[in-house]
Amino acid sequence: MAILISFDIDGTLEVGDPPGPLTMDMVRIVQEKGFLIGSCSDRPPTSQRSLWEEYNISVDFAVAKHLLAGVKSEFEADAYYHIGDREDLDRQMALRVGFDFLWPDEAAEKSWFDPDA
Ligand SMILES: [Mg+2]
Repeated sequence: MAILISFDIDGTLEVGDPPGPLTMDMVRIVQEKGFLIGSCSDRPPTSQRSLWEEYNISVDFAVAKHLLAGVKSEFEADAYYHIGDREDLDRQMALRVGFDFLWPDEAAEKSWFDPDA
């Protein structure tokens, strides 16, 4: 089953400002499992991409918040998740475009991020 995860950056990833609970290693684990991954943040897409490059993670997408719907049309997956820390900018936005939503702490508990699961 193909799963796509869109990560918010600030307040979500450990490298965000403020830092969030999801580590770059967790992102690598799901990518190695074959998940489609990328970021959807208020940061410009070019700066999102340079952040990922800095950590040697080759993402499938890096888009502005209002373009998450386009990710759904571009990639074929069985489930689409957005993980973020804001009610309006993340949860409402994600649900509006047909993504499932997880808060960062909630997402961190998923077996997705367990390398042995
Ligand atoms: Mg955020």
